[in-house]
Amino acid sequence: MTNLKSLIREVPDFPKPGILFYDITTLMKDPKGWRCVVDSLKDHYKDCKVDAVVGIEARGFFFAPTLAYALGVGFIPVRKPKKLPAETASIEYALEYGADRLEIHKDAISPGQRVLIVDDVLATGGTAAAVASLITQLGGEVAGLGFVLELDFLHGREKLAKYEVFSLLHY
Ligand code: AMP
Repeated sequence: MTNLKSLIREVPDFPKPGILFYDITTLMKDPKGWRCVVDSLKDHYKDCKVDAVVGIEARGFFFAPTLAYALGVGFIPVRKPKKLPAETASIEYALEYGADRLEIHKDAISPGQRVLIVDDVLATGGTAAAVASLITQLGGEVAGLGFVLELDFLHGREKLAKYEVFSLLHY
């Protein structure tokens, strides 16, 4: 297997002092690395009943639609406020300072649909937990949450204890 960690660039003090930023653009531009990421996620979910993959703006949009294509299911975007044109459902969630909001089209999920949520990084888990609760509010079932990498020391998966959580890489 390709050494994926060696392809992820670690940028200190971005976007602010004290944060070590995991830059996945260096992984995505490597043909073998990119294929390995998508194939490994696909392998993990190939026997799981998934009706659609939800991606979280912005970096989730690199991985979620690609995985949806590989699994042969549709892709549903969860976006920052005021980007989606039709009627939306939204959820507000706490950030380190202040709050943020994410939106999804109200008719994006059919009741009982099994949805896989995909993002690049699982950090504190606040974003993923908010998206999982948005899906549930719309009557969807969270089939799982998949990440390229997980920052274990932030214990984000504790906020997602109700769900199956899978990360390709752990830091
Ligand atoms: P969180 O809600 O704390 O789990 O973090 C949510 C989002 O922040 C993820 O979608 C990541 O894209 C991004 N993120 C958080 N920490 C990092 C990091 N150290 N490097 C790269 N992205 C990060």
